[in-house]
Amino acid sequence: MSSTIQPLEFNGNWELSPSLESTDHLSLKNQYGLFINGNFVKPLSKKFFPTINPSNESTIAMIAEAEEKDVNLAVKSARVAYDGHWSKMPNKERAKYIYRIARMIQEKSKELSVIETLDGGKPIRESRDIDIPLAAAHFFYYAGWADKLKYAFPIANPKPVGVAGQIIPWNFPLMMAAWKIAPALATGNTLVLKPAESTSLTALKLAEIIQEADLPPGVVNIITGPGTTGNLMVNHRKIDKIAFTGSTAVGKSIMKNIAGSNKKSTMELGGKAANIVFEDAPLDQAVEGVINGIYFNQGHVCCAGSRLFIQESIYDLFIRKLKDRMQSLILGNPLDKNTDIGAINSHNQLRSINKYIDIGKKEGAEIFQLNCEIPSKGYWCAPTLFTNVSQSHAIAREEIFGPVLAVQTFRTTNEVINKANNTPYGLSAGVWTDKGSKVFNLTSKLNAGVVWANTYNKFDPTSPFGGYKESGHGREGGLHGLEAYLNLS
Ligand code: NAP
Ligand code: MG
Repeated sequence: MSSTIQPLEFNGNWELSPSLESTDHLSLKNQYGLFINGNFVKPLSKKFFPTINPSNESTIAMIAEAEEKDVNLAVKSARVAYDGHWSKMPNKERAKYIYRIARMIQEKSKELSVIETLDGGKPIRESRDIDIPLAAAHFFYYAGWADKLKYAFPIANPKPVGVAGQIIPWNFPLMMAAWKIAPALATGNTLVLKPAESTSLTALKLAEIIQEADLPPGVVNIITGPGTTGNLMVNHRKIDKIAFTGSTAVGKSIMKNIAGSNKKSTMELGGKAANIVFEDAPLDQAVEGVINGIYFNQGHVCCAGSRLFIQESIYDLFIRKLKDRMQSLILGNPLDKNTDIGAINSHNQLRSINKYIDIGKKEGAEIFQLNCEIPSKGYWCAPTLFTNVSQSHAIAREEIFGPVLAVQTFRTTNEVINKANNTPYGLSAGVWTDKGSKVFNLTSKLNAGVVWANTYNKFDPTSPFGGYKESGHGREGGLHGLEAYLNLS
Protein backbone atom coordinates (compact mmCIF):
# COMPACT_ATOMS: atom_id res chain seq x y z
CA MET A 1 0.00 0.00 0.00
CA SER A 2 1.45 3.33 -0.90
CA SER A 3 0.89 6.39 1.21
CA THR A 4 2.21 9.88 1.02
CA ILE A 5 4.24 10.78 4.05
CA GLN A 6 4.21 14.44 4.78
CA PRO A 7 7.61 15.70 5.99
CA LEU A 8 7.50 17.22 9.47
CA GLU A 9 7.91 20.91 9.44
CA PHE A 10 11.02 21.91 11.37
CA ASN A 11 11.51 25.51 12.31
CA GLY A 12 14.83 24.87 14.02
CA ASN A 13 13.30 24.83 17.49
CA TRP A 14 12.01 21.54 18.81
CA GLU A 15 10.30 21.90 22.15
CA LEU A 16 11.40 18.87 24.13
CA SER A 17 9.91 17.91 27.49
CA PRO A 18 12.50 17.89 30.28
CA SER A 19 14.12 14.50 30.79
CA LEU A 20 16.08 14.86 34.00
CA GLU A 21 18.39 12.11 35.18
CA SER A 22 17.49 11.11 38.72
CA THR A 23 19.84 11.84 41.62
CA ASP A 24 18.05 9.55 44.11
CA HIS A 25 20.61 6.78 43.83
CA LEU A 26 23.66 8.88 44.76
CA SER A 27 25.58 8.22 47.92
CA LEU A 28 27.58 11.33 48.59
CA LYS A 29 29.08 12.40 51.90
CA ASN A 30 29.07 15.98 53.11
CA GLN A 31 32.79 15.85 53.68
CA TYR A 32 35.64 13.85 52.12
CA GLY A 33 39.01 13.12 53.71
CA LEU A 34 42.18 12.05 51.92
CA PHE A 35 42.52 8.47 50.69
CA ILE A 36 45.83 7.35 52.14
CA ASN A 37 47.01 3.82 52.84
CA GLY A 38 43.61 2.32 52.06
CA ASN A 39 41.59 4.60 54.36
CA PHE A 40 39.89 7.95 54.23
CA VAL A 41 41.74 10.10 56.75
CA LYS A 42 41.29 13.64 58.01
CA PRO A 43 43.87 16.01 56.51
CA LEU A 44 46.68 16.97 58.91
CA SER A 45 46.26 20.46 57.48
CA LYS A 46 42.74 20.44 59.04
CA LYS A 47 41.60 22.38 55.97
CA PHE A 48 38.64 21.70 53.68
CA PHE A 49 37.30 23.51 50.63
CA PRO A 50 33.92 23.32 48.87
CA THR A 51 33.34 21.57 45.56
CA ILE A 52 30.46 23.19 43.75
CA ASN A 53 27.97 22.40 41.04
CA PRO A 54 28.85 24.90 38.28
CA SER A 55 25.33 24.78 36.81
CA ASN A 56 23.75 26.33 39.92
CA GLU A 57 26.69 27.32 42.18
CA SER A 58 25.49 25.12 45.06
CA THR A 59 28.02 23.37 47.30
CA ILE A 60 27.99 19.58 46.84
CA ALA A 61 30.55 18.56 49.48
CA MET A 62 33.61 19.71 51.40
CA ILE A 63 36.93 18.31 50.20
CA ALA A 64 40.16 17.95 52.17
CA GLU A 65 43.14 20.11 51.29
CA ALA A 66 46.42 18.20 51.42
CA GLU A 67 49.44 20.16 52.60
CA GLU A 68 53.07 19.10 53.01
CA LYS A 69 52.62 16.59 55.86
CA ASP A 70 49.66 14.98 54.09
CA VAL A 71 51.61 14.67 50.84
CA ASN A 72 54.53 13.12 52.76
CA LEU A 73 52.18 10.58 54.33
CA ALA A 74 50.65 9.64 50.98
CA VAL A 75 54.05 9.23 49.31
CA LYS A 76 55.34 7.19 52.24
CA SER A 77 52.36 4.88 52.07
CA ALA A 78 52.87 4.41 48.30
CA ARG A 79 56.58 3.72 48.86
CA VAL A 80 55.94 1.13 51.60
CA ALA A 81 53.32 -0.62 49.41
CA TYR A 82 55.72 -0.62 46.46
CA ASP A 83 58.71 -2.03 48.35
CA GLY A 84 56.61 -4.31 50.53
CA HIS A 85 54.40 -6.21 48.13
CA TRP A 86 52.92 -4.61 45.01
CA SER A 87 56.09 -4.62 42.85
CA LYS A 88 56.76 -8.24 43.86
CA MET A 89 53.24 -9.58 43.39
CA PRO A 90 52.85 -12.03 40.46
CA ASN A 91 51.60 -10.06 37.49
CA LYS A 92 48.49 -12.15 37.01
CA GLU A 93 47.43 -11.43 40.62
CA ARG A 94 47.75 -7.69 39.98
CA ALA A 95 45.59 -8.12 36.89
CA LYS A 96 42.74 -9.54 38.98
CA TYR A 97 42.52 -6.38 41.06
CA ILE A 98 42.48 -4.19 37.96
CA TYR A 99 39.71 -6.27 36.36
CA ARG A 100 37.74 -6.00 39.59
CA ILE A 101 38.02 -2.20 39.58
CA ALA A 102 36.91 -2.13 35.91
CA ARG A 103 33.83 -4.21 36.65
CA MET A 104 32.92 -2.12 39.68
CA ILE A 105 33.14 1.08 37.62
CA GLN A 106 30.69 -0.51 35.18
CA GLU A 107 28.35 -1.56 38.00
CA LYS A 108 28.37 1.95 39.45
CA SER A 109 28.37 3.74 36.12
CA LYS A 110 25.03 5.43 36.62
CA GLU A 111 26.04 6.95 39.93
CA LEU A 112 29.46 7.94 38.62
CA SER A 113 28.02 9.66 35.54
CA VAL A 114 25.57 11.71 37.57
CA ILE A 115 28.29 12.78 40.00
CA GLU A 116 30.60 13.69 37.10
CA THR A 117 27.85 15.88 35.66
CA LEU A 118 26.97 17.51 39.00
CA ASP A 119 30.55 18.31 39.89
CA GLY A 120 31.90 19.29 36.47
CA GLY A 121 28.92 20.73 34.56
CA LYS A 122 29.12 18.47 31.50
CA PRO A 123 25.91 17.06 29.96
CA ILE A 124 24.79 13.73 31.40
CA ARG A 125 24.73 12.26 27.90
CA GLU A 126 28.45 12.81 27.70
CA SER A 127 29.43 11.53 31.13
CA ARG A 128 27.11 8.52 30.66
CA ASP A 129 28.21 7.64 27.11
CA ILE A 130 31.84 8.77 27.02
CA ASP A 131 33.57 9.48 30.33
CA ILE A 132 32.49 6.54 32.45
CA PRO A 133 32.51 3.79 29.77
CA LEU A 134 35.97 4.91 28.65
CA ALA A 135 37.23 4.91 32.24
CA ALA A 136 36.08 1.29 32.66
CA ALA A 137 37.50 0.37 29.23
CA HIS A 138 40.92 1.66 30.26
CA PHE A 139 40.99 -0.52 33.36
CA PHE A 140 39.87 -3.57 31.32
CA TYR A 141 42.45 -2.90 28.64
CA TYR A 142 45.40 -2.52 31.01
CA ALA A 143 44.29 -5.43 33.19
CA GLY A 144 44.78 -7.52 30.06
CA TRP A 145 48.39 -6.37 29.67
CA ALA A 146 49.46 -6.89 33.30
CA ASP A 147 50.59 -10.51 32.86
CA LYS A 148 51.90 -10.02 29.30
CA LEU A 149 54.56 -7.37 29.85
CA LYS A 150 57.36 -9.68 28.77
CA TYR A 151 55.55 -10.26 25.47
CA ALA A 152 54.86 -6.56 25.08
CA PHE A 153 58.55 -5.75 25.54
CA PRO A 154 60.54 -8.87 24.61
CA ILE A 155 64.21 -8.90 25.67
CA ALA A 156 63.73 -5.53 27.41
CA ASN A 157 63.26 -6.92 30.94
CA PRO A 158 60.43 -4.54 31.93
CA LYS A 159 60.60 -3.24 35.53
CA PRO A 160 58.25 -0.80 37.27
CA VAL A 161 59.46 2.75 37.84
CA GLY A 162 58.42 2.93 41.51
CA VAL A 163 56.09 5.55 42.96
CA ALA A 164 54.21 7.67 40.42
CA GLY A 165 52.87 11.15 41.18
CA GLN A 166 49.85 11.80 38.96
CA ILE A 167 48.19 15.17 38.49
CA ILE A 168 45.04 15.57 36.38
CA PRO A 169 42.74 18.35 35.07
CA TRP A 170 39.00 18.93 35.38
CA ASN A 171 37.71 18.26 31.88
CA PHE A 172 37.44 14.43 32.02
CA PRO A 173 37.95 13.79 35.74
CA LEU A 174 37.31 10.04 36.09
CA MET A 175 38.57 9.23 32.62
CA MET A 176 41.86 11.07 33.25
CA ALA A 177 42.23 9.22 36.57
CA ALA A 178 41.72 5.91 34.72
CA TRP A 179 44.25 6.87 32.01
CA LYS A 180 46.80 7.38 34.77
CA ILE A 181 45.98 4.71 37.36
CA ALA A 182 45.30 1.67 35.14
CA PRO A 183 48.67 1.51 33.30
CA ALA A 184 50.58 2.37 36.49
CA LEU A 185 49.01 -0.57 38.35
CA ALA A 186 49.39 -2.97 35.43
CA THR A 187 53.13 -2.32 35.37
CA GLY A 188 53.62 -2.77 39.13
CA ASN A 189 53.93 0.84 40.26
CA THR A 190 52.19 2.41 43.23
CA LEU A 191 50.91 5.95 43.07
CA VAL A 192 49.64 9.19 44.52
CA LEU A 193 46.99 10.92 42.38
CA LYS A 194 45.72 14.48 42.71
CA PRO A 195 42.52 15.41 40.86
CA ALA A 196 41.74 19.01 39.90
CA GLU A 197 40.42 21.21 42.67
CA SER A 198 37.02 21.76 41.02
CA THR A 199 36.31 18.09 40.16
CA SER A 200 37.58 15.79 42.91
CA LEU A 201 34.39 13.83 43.54
CA THR A 202 34.60 10.98 41.03
CA ALA A 203 38.26 10.38 41.97
CA LEU A 204 37.09 10.06 45.59
CA LYS A 205 34.30 7.69 44.50
CA LEU A 206 36.99 5.72 42.67
CA ALA A 207 38.90 5.59 45.98
CA GLU A 208 35.79 4.00 47.54
CA ILE A 209 35.70 1.46 44.70
CA ILE A 210 39.39 0.71 45.20
CA GLN A 211 38.75 0.18 48.91
CA GLU A 212 35.80 -2.12 48.15
CA ALA A 213 37.92 -4.01 45.60
CA ASP A 214 40.35 -4.83 48.43
CA LEU A 215 43.34 -3.39 46.62
CA PRO A 216 46.21 -3.68 49.12
CA PRO A 217 46.57 -0.47 51.21
CA GLY A 218 48.92 2.18 49.91
CA VAL A 219 48.97 1.04 46.27
CA VAL A 220 46.64 3.87 45.25
CA ASN A 221 46.52 7.08 47.28
CA ILE A 222 44.21 9.89 46.24
CA ILE A 223 44.84 13.29 47.73
CA THR A 224 42.94 16.47 47.00
CA GLY A 225 43.89 20.11 47.01
CA PRO A 226 44.91 23.01 44.81
CA GLY A 227 47.94 23.50 42.55
CA THR A 228 50.21 23.87 45.57
CA THR A 229 49.42 20.26 46.55
CA GLY A 230 50.47 19.21 43.04
CA ASN A 231 53.63 21.26 43.36
CA LEU A 232 54.55 19.44 46.58
CA MET A 233 54.21 16.15 44.71
CA VAL A 234 56.36 17.40 41.83
CA ASN A 235 59.16 18.35 44.23
CA HIS A 236 58.92 15.26 46.44
CA ARG A 237 62.20 13.34 46.49
CA LYS A 238 60.55 9.95 46.94
CA ILE A 239 58.42 10.20 43.80
CA ASP A 240 60.02 8.52 40.77
CA LYS A 241 57.77 9.72 37.98
CA ILE A 242 55.42 12.62 37.34
CA ALA A 243 52.49 11.99 35.01
CA PHE A 244 50.83 15.33 34.36
CA THR A 245 47.83 16.35 32.27
CA GLY A 246 46.98 20.02 32.24
CA SER A 247 47.96 23.34 30.78
CA THR A 248 51.18 23.98 28.90
CA ALA A 249 52.14 26.75 31.35
CA VAL A 250 51.99 24.44 34.39
CA GLY A 251 53.61 21.61 32.39
CA LYS A 252 56.57 23.86 31.61
CA SER A 253 56.97 24.87 35.24
CA ILE A 254 56.88 21.20 36.29
CA MET A 255 59.60 20.34 33.75
CA LYS A 256 61.77 23.13 35.18
CA ASN A 257 61.18 21.81 38.70
CA ILE A 258 62.16 18.24 37.92
CA ALA A 259 65.11 19.10 35.67
CA GLY A 260 68.27 17.48 37.04
CA SER A 261 66.33 15.05 39.23
CA ASN A 262 65.97 11.38 38.41
CA LYS A 263 62.22 11.69 37.82
CA LYS A 264 60.69 10.37 34.63
CA SER A 265 57.83 12.39 33.16
CA THR A 266 54.92 12.33 30.78
CA MET A 267 53.28 15.64 29.90
CA GLU A 268 49.84 15.81 28.26
CA LEU A 269 49.37 19.52 27.69
CA GLY A 270 47.32 22.06 25.77
CA GLY A 271 46.24 22.13 22.14
CA LYS A 272 44.87 24.29 19.34
CA ALA A 273 43.71 21.71 16.85
CA ALA A 274 42.95 22.34 13.19
CA ASN A 275 39.78 20.78 11.82
CA ILE A 276 40.10 20.87 8.01
CA VAL A 277 37.12 20.58 5.66
CA PHE A 278 37.83 20.01 1.94
CA GLU A 279 35.29 20.76 -0.78
CA ASP A 280 34.85 17.04 -1.51
CA ALA A 281 33.92 16.22 2.11
CA PRO A 282 30.50 14.84 3.12
CA LEU A 283 29.39 18.27 4.31
CA ASP A 284 26.55 17.36 6.69
CA GLN A 285 28.75 14.82 8.45
CA ALA A 286 31.54 17.38 8.60
CA VAL A 287 29.17 19.89 10.23
CA GLU A 288 28.35 17.31 12.90
CA GLY A 289 32.06 16.61 13.35
CA VAL A 290 32.87 20.29 13.74
CA ILE A 291 30.06 20.76 16.28
CA ASN A 292 31.20 17.67 18.17
CA GLY A 293 34.82 18.80 17.97
CA ILE A 294 34.37 22.19 19.61
CA TYR A 295 31.01 22.55 21.32
CA PHE A 296 30.87 19.08 22.84
CA ASN A 297 31.91 19.32 26.50
CA GLN A 298 31.71 23.14 26.21
CA GLY A 299 35.05 23.12 24.39
CA HIS A 300 36.72 21.83 27.57
CA VAL A 301 38.73 19.38 25.51
CA CYS A 302 42.51 19.53 25.03
CA CYS A 303 42.11 18.16 21.50
CA ALA A 304 39.10 20.38 20.65
CA GLY A 305 38.96 21.35 16.98
CA SER A 306 39.12 25.03 17.87
CA ARG A 307 40.50 26.19 14.50
CA LEU A 308 38.24 25.40 11.56
CA PHE A 309 39.74 25.59 8.04
CA ILE A 310 37.16 25.54 5.23
CA GLN A 311 38.11 25.27 1.55
CA GLU A 312 37.11 28.54 -0.11
CA SER A 313 34.80 27.01 -2.73
CA ILE A 314 32.37 25.68 -0.08
CA TYR A 315 32.82 28.42 2.51
CA ASP A 316 29.40 30.13 2.23
CA LEU A 317 27.46 26.88 2.10
CA PHE A 318 29.36 25.32 4.98
CA ILE A 319 29.04 28.34 7.25
CA ARG A 320 25.30 28.48 6.58
CA LYS A 321 24.90 24.79 7.47
CA LEU A 322 27.07 25.24 10.55
CA LYS A 323 25.08 28.21 11.84
CA ASP A 324 21.80 26.35 11.22
CA ARG A 325 23.05 23.39 13.21
CA MET A 326 24.36 25.62 16.01
CA GLN A 327 20.90 27.11 16.39
CA SER A 328 19.46 23.69 17.18
CA LEU A 329 21.86 23.05 20.09
CA ILE A 330 20.22 22.88 23.50
CA LEU A 331 22.00 24.67 26.34
CA GLY A 332 20.77 24.06 29.86
CA ASN A 333 20.57 21.77 32.86
CA PRO A 334 23.43 19.26 32.41
CA LEU A 335 21.32 16.56 34.09
CA ASP A 336 18.73 16.77 31.30
CA LYS A 337 19.28 14.01 28.74
CA ASN A 338 18.37 16.43 25.93
CA THR A 339 21.10 18.91 26.83
CA ASP A 340 23.91 19.38 24.32
CA ILE A 341 25.77 22.21 26.05
CA GLY A 342 26.29 22.13 29.80
CA ALA A 343 27.87 24.57 32.23
CA ILE A 344 31.39 25.98 32.10
CA ASN A 345 33.44 24.22 34.76
CA SER A 346 34.31 27.18 36.96
CA HIS A 347 33.94 30.90 37.36
CA ASN A 348 37.62 31.39 36.53
CA GLN A 349 37.31 29.41 33.32
CA LEU A 350 34.23 31.41 32.28
CA ARG A 351 36.10 34.65 32.89
CA SER A 352 39.00 33.45 30.76
CA ILE A 353 36.69 32.39 27.88
CA ASN A 354 34.82 35.72 27.99
CA LYS A 355 38.14 37.54 27.88
CA TYR A 356 38.96 35.76 24.61
CA ILE A 357 35.51 36.52 23.17
CA ASP A 358 36.15 40.23 23.86
CA ILE A 359 39.60 40.01 22.30
CA GLY A 360 38.13 38.32 19.21
CA LYS A 361 35.64 41.16 18.76
CA LYS A 362 38.31 43.82 19.30
CA GLU A 363 40.60 42.12 16.78
CA GLY A 364 37.88 42.62 14.17
CA ALA A 365 36.55 39.08 13.80
CA GLU A 366 32.83 38.66 13.19
CA ILE A 367 30.92 36.93 15.98
CA PHE A 368 27.93 34.58 15.79
CA GLN A 369 26.47 32.99 18.93
CA LEU A 370 23.74 30.49 19.70
CA ASN A 371 20.64 32.54 20.42
CA CYS A 372 19.44 30.93 23.64
CA GLU A 373 18.32 31.64 27.15
CA ILE A 374 21.19 31.60 29.63
CA PRO A 375 20.23 30.27 33.10
CA SER A 376 20.37 32.98 35.77
CA LYS A 377 22.64 30.98 38.10
CA GLY A 378 25.79 29.09 37.27
CA TYR A 379 28.53 29.57 34.67
CA TRP A 380 27.41 29.52 31.06
CA CYS A 381 28.77 30.41 27.65
CA ALA A 382 26.75 30.20 24.43
CA PRO A 383 28.52 28.34 21.61
CA THR A 384 30.44 31.00 19.70
CA LEU A 385 31.67 31.17 16.11
CA PHE A 386 34.19 33.72 14.83
CA THR A 387 34.59 34.32 11.10
CA ASN A 388 36.91 36.83 9.38
CA VAL A 389 39.75 35.46 11.48
CA SER A 390 43.39 35.66 10.45
CA GLN A 391 46.36 33.57 11.55
CA SER A 392 47.69 36.41 13.70
CA HIS A 393 44.52 36.77 15.83
CA ALA A 394 44.89 35.66 19.45
CA ILE A 395 41.69 33.56 19.12
CA ALA A 396 43.42 31.58 16.33
CA ARG A 397 46.71 31.17 18.22
CA GLU A 398 45.94 30.66 21.90
CA GLU A 399 44.10 27.85 23.64
CA ILE A 400 40.73 29.14 24.86
CA PHE A 401 39.41 25.88 26.33
CA GLY A 402 35.81 26.94 25.79
CA PRO A 403 33.07 26.70 23.12
CA VAL A 404 34.71 29.22 20.80
CA LEU A 405 35.53 28.36 17.19
CA ALA A 406 37.81 30.46 14.95
CA VAL A 407 37.18 29.97 11.22
CA GLN A 408 39.69 30.52 8.42
CA THR A 409 39.71 29.54 4.74
CA PHE A 410 42.22 27.93 2.39
CA ARG A 411 42.61 27.19 -1.32
CA THR A 412 45.25 24.47 -1.61
CA THR A 413 46.39 21.48 0.41
CA ASN A 414 49.86 22.90 0.97
CA GLU A 415 48.40 26.17 2.20
CA VAL A 416 46.23 24.44 4.79
CA ILE A 417 49.06 22.22 5.99
CA ASN A 418 51.22 25.30 6.56
CA LYS A 419 48.44 27.14 8.35
CA ALA A 420 47.48 24.13 10.48
CA ASN A 421 51.09 23.54 11.55
CA ASN A 422 51.68 27.20 12.30
CA THR A 423 51.10 26.84 16.05
CA PRO A 424 53.25 26.01 19.06
CA TYR A 425 50.87 23.13 19.83
CA GLY A 426 50.61 19.70 18.19
CA LEU A 427 48.05 17.55 19.94
CA SER A 428 45.40 16.69 17.38
CA ALA A 429 43.79 17.53 14.03
CA GLY A 430 40.82 16.52 11.88
CA VAL A 431 40.53 16.06 8.12
CA TRP A 432 37.24 15.85 6.19
CA THR A 433 37.46 14.63 2.60
CA ASP A 434 36.17 11.98 0.26
CA LYS A 435 39.70 11.04 -0.86
CA GLY A 436 41.78 8.48 1.03
CA SER A 437 44.93 9.78 -0.63
CA LYS A 438 44.31 13.26 0.79
CA VAL A 439 43.82 11.76 4.25
CA PHE A 440 47.13 9.90 4.08
CA ASN A 441 48.93 12.93 2.68
CA LEU A 442 47.71 15.12 5.54
CA THR A 443 48.19 12.60 8.33
CA SER A 444 51.85 12.35 7.39
CA LYS A 445 52.34 16.12 7.21
CA LEU A 446 50.29 17.51 10.09
CA ASN A 447 52.36 17.85 13.26
CA ALA A 448 49.78 16.35 15.59
CA GLY A 449 49.78 13.33 17.87
CA VAL A 450 46.30 12.28 16.74
CA VAL A 451 44.73 12.96 13.34
CA TRP A 452 41.09 11.97 12.88
CA ALA A 453 39.71 11.46 9.37
CA ASN A 454 35.99 12.02 8.72
CA THR A 455 35.32 11.83 12.44
CA TYR A 456 36.43 13.73 15.54
CA ASN A 457 37.10 13.19 19.24
CA LYS A 458 37.14 9.42 19.12
CA PHE A 459 39.08 7.74 21.91
CA ASP A 460 40.04 4.15 22.47
CA PRO A 461 42.24 2.61 25.16
CA THR A 462 44.23 0.66 22.57
CA SER A 463 45.27 3.81 20.76
CA PRO A 464 48.13 5.98 22.04
CA PHE A 465 47.29 9.63 22.72
CA GLY A 466 49.69 12.52 23.20
CA GLY A 467 51.26 15.56 21.63
CA TYR A 468 54.14 17.10 19.76
CA LYS A 469 55.83 20.43 20.46
CA GLU A 470 54.26 22.37 23.37
CA SER A 471 51.43 19.84 23.64
CA GLY A 472 53.76 17.64 25.65
CA HIS A 473 55.69 14.40 25.48
CA GLY A 474 54.99 10.75 26.15
CA ARG A 475 51.87 8.83 25.24
CA GLU A 476 48.90 7.49 27.19
CA GLY A 477 46.87 4.55 25.93
CA GLY A 478 47.97 1.46 24.02
CA LEU A 479 51.37 -0.18 24.43
CA HIS A 480 53.01 3.24 24.51
CA GLY A 481 51.07 3.99 27.68
CA LEU A 482 52.69 0.98 29.40
CA GLU A 483 56.17 2.03 28.41
CA ALA A 484 55.77 5.31 30.28
CA TYR A 485 55.54 3.36 33.56
CA LEU A 486 58.43 0.97 32.94
CA ASN A 487 62.18 0.98 33.03
CA LEU A 488 63.31 -1.05 30.04
CA SER A 489 66.86 -2.36 29.82
P1 NAP B 1 46.07 23.24 34.95
O1 NAP B 1 45.68 24.52 35.52
O2 NAP B 1 47.42 23.11 34.35
O3 NAP B 1 45.86 22.15 36.08
C1 NAP B 1 46.04 20.78 35.88
C2 NAP B 1 46.31 20.11 37.21
O4 NAP B 1 47.55 20.60 37.74
C3 NAP B 1 45.27 20.41 38.27
O5 NAP B 1 45.14 19.29 39.11
C4 NAP B 1 45.92 21.58 39.01
O6 NAP B 1 45.40 21.75 40.32
C5 NAP B 1 47.36 21.16 39.03
N1 NAP B 1 48.33 22.24 39.20
C6 NAP B 1 48.15 23.58 39.04
N2 NAP B 1 49.31 24.24 39.26
C7 NAP B 1 50.24 23.30 39.56
C8 NAP B 1 51.62 23.34 39.87
N3 NAP B 1 52.30 24.49 39.92
N4 NAP B 1 52.28 22.19 40.13
C9 NAP B 1 51.62 21.00 40.06
N5 NAP B 1 50.31 20.90 39.78
C10 NAP B 1 49.63 22.03 39.51
O7 NAP B 1 45.06 22.78 33.80
P2 NAP B 1 43.49 22.77 33.90
O8 NAP B 1 43.02 24.17 33.78
O9 NAP B 1 43.05 21.95 35.05
O10 NAP B 1 43.13 21.94 32.58
C11 NAP B 1 43.07 22.52 31.34
C12 NAP B 1 44.35 22.24 30.55
O11 NAP B 1 44.61 20.84 30.48
C13 NAP B 1 44.22 22.69 29.13
O12 NAP B 1 45.38 23.38 28.76
C14 NAP B 1 44.10 21.38 28.36
O13 NAP B 1 44.50 21.47 27.02
C15 NAP B 1 44.94 20.47 29.16
N6 NAP B 1 44.59 19.06 28.92
C16 NAP B 1 45.43 18.29 28.18
C17 NAP B 1 45.12 16.97 27.90
C18 NAP B 1 46.03 16.11 27.09
O14 NAP B 1 45.83 14.90 27.10
N7 NAP B 1 47.00 16.66 26.39
C19 NAP B 1 43.94 16.43 28.42
C20 NAP B 1 43.09 17.25 29.17
C21 NAP B 1 43.44 18.56 29.43
P3 NAP B 1 44.12 22.70 40.53
O15 NAP B 1 43.01 22.23 39.69
O16 NAP B 1 43.78 22.51 41.92
O17 NAP B 1 44.58 24.07 40.18
MG1 MG C 1 32.78 21.12 41.03
